[in-house]
Amino acid sequence: MHFVDAKSILSSSCGMNVYRGCTHGCIYCDSRSRCYQFTHPFEDIEVKQNAPELLDAALAKRRRVCMIQTGAMSDPYMHCETSLRLTRRCLEVIDRRGFGAAVLTKSDRVLEDIDLLARINKRARAVLQMTLTTFDDRLCRIVEPKVCPTSKRLETLGRFARSGIDTAVWITPILPFINDTEENLLGLLDGCRAAGVKAVLFPGAGVTLRDGDRDYFYAALDDHFPELRERYEKTYGLAYEVMSPDSERLTRLFVSECKRLGLDGYTDFGKFFDFIAKMPGDAGEQLSFF
Ligand code: SF4
Repeated sequence: MHFVDAKSILSSSCGMNVYRGCTHGCIYCDSRSRCYQFTHPFEDIEVKQNAPELLDAALAKRRRVCMIQTGAMSDPYMHCETSLRLTRRCLEVIDRRGFGAAVLTKSDRVLEDIDLLARINKRARAVLQMTLTTFDDRLCRIVEPKVCPTSKRLETLGRFARSGIDTAVWITPILPFINDTEENLLGLLDGCRAAGVKAVLFPGAGVTLRDGDRDYFYAALDDHFPELRERYEKTYGLAYEVMSPDSERLTRLFVSECKRLGLDGYTDFGKFFDFIAKMPGDAGEQLSFF
């Protein structure tokens, strides 16, 4: 990893990434696509060492509180967080300034901050979001090899739900001919129900592939599913959106199962993001900080 002083940390939509690059090794990772113009190897994490100070200054200028979201481009709980604690220091700033926090991660390391997130939740709101792609831990260790498996993530979600913190799950991406099965979807939804997950997103069964990301994914197919590369190339060519032939059927199943299990199911990113970004007492308007 290497350290930089960033110029800014918070986007206009209240998103932040304290790290750039990621060490979880997901075989389908969009963040490693060439369009993001990494000038260093993806696993050589860029650490924005001044993130807490930048965040503090940015929040001081905001007139309205909002949910500060982290985890869109890089997991905030990679291995390096254990020693650096930069995500935690940013959460401390968020707590002190009275803002909300929505964390998206695949790692059970977020449990180290459960007390802090519970405090943020009391004063404003906290949401834990986790990505789950396969109910089968053995498959999970292939497609997301350097982060804890689905079973651990479900345990983590359960711990947060029992602490009164809203939890949300992204069931995406779904890899055609690998995890695009009814059994997988039903297993994941049942796991979410048992863990007390509040909201679940399933934006169709598919994955996005583009330059950089596609090469990495195909190399992983060669290693683990050698018969699939040719099938992908023939079926999808250089398509960006790579949808399972079963996507529509799985989406209908998702909707009916969510109803049956009492989960708030979303197939639309916009409405799901509205749920994540909502502050207490918010009917579309954000609470005034003053
Ligand atoms: S956790 Fe996210 S950013 Fe990290 S490798 Fe996996 S998909 Fe990429």
